[in-house]
Amino acid sequence: MDELKVFCPATIANISCGFDVLGVALDSVGDEMVVRKTKEKGIKITKLIGQELPLETNKNVAGVAAVALLDAIGYREGFEIEIYKKIKAGSGIGSSAASSTGAVWAINELLGKPFSSLDLVKFAMEGEYLASGVHHADNVAPALYGGFTLVRSYEPLDVIKINTPDKLYATVIHPQIEIKTSDSRKILKTSITLKDGIKQWGNVGGLVAGLFIEDYELIGRSLEDHIIEPIRSILIPEFNKVKSESIKAGALGGGISGSGPSIFALSKGENTANDVAEAMRNVYKNIGINFDVHVSKINPQGIKTID
Ligand code: ADP
Repeated sequence: MDELKVFCPATIANISCGFDVLGVALDSVGDEMVVRKTKEKGIKITKLIGQELPLETNKNVAGVAAVALLDAIGYREGFEIEIYKKIKAGSGIGSSAASSTGAVWAINELLGKPFSSLDLVKFAMEGEYLASGVHHADNVAPALYGGFTLVRSYEPLDVIKINTPDKLYATVIHPQIEIKTSDSRKILKTSITLKDGIKQWGNVGGLVAGLFIEDYELIGRSLEDHIIEPIRSILIPEFNKVKSESIKAGALGGGISGSGPSIFALSKGENTANDVAEAMRNVYKNIGINFDVHVSKINPQGIKTID
């Protein structure tokens, strides 16, 4: 096998209380990539369709992540990469993570899988560092493992795959304003109060438990963020209205997707997720900002090969 075409899912990171640690992979939104072995050693990005992004290996997250993998095997192999972008960069649904994980996952397959998923997370995190200046794993982990993932620890890196209840759907609205991850990090405080910490880790525990025991009400109650959301939501037009209307339409809860501007809601069942999409559209339709709305089942598998 010398060539592979892959689907690289969009992901929601920073799931409410799970800033930098909880993420989930989507099913109906994602990029496509073709990765091909070459005689020449190294990584070349030969095509990038759908977005204005750099083709240079060291400026594209796919190139940087792939080089991190090649470095680990002594830079003995060569690959060319075609990227078909469907996820808009800076959308908050893991555009950079889709490219960096797609590259390393496909190369690992073409090499006969010398690396574990955890190794691939580490390589892909180099791409995230290029995109945001931080080695965060909460988008790349769900893209590689599928479903919900928890980054229990960064040092050492410890990623746990969490059960995905079958009826869980995500609705995401992407207002087409750009908020760079690097900018939305700058506005965050660097310390929290013990009181806020207690609320937050109670909710993280509740959310993880709710996902494992498939208790949708508990999932909903736990989708609360007292630390990041109050600060970052100021950057997102109509955030509070989108959230409250989503809940009125039946969503279990929601929050900021990644570092925004996308807003997500989780629902039990596809019909409710579609009602939530309609409620989100109704909030945004008269405010003069273009937007996309996605409804997606949770993707239990992560990156996969396609024909
Ligand atoms: P998202 O949360 O959607 O991933 P980020 O702001 O974190 O958005 O990342 C997008 C940044 O990464 C942009 O500055 C973009 O130019 C850069 N970038 C480099 N290569 C890629 C790529 N292949 N796909 C997406 N973004 C890329």
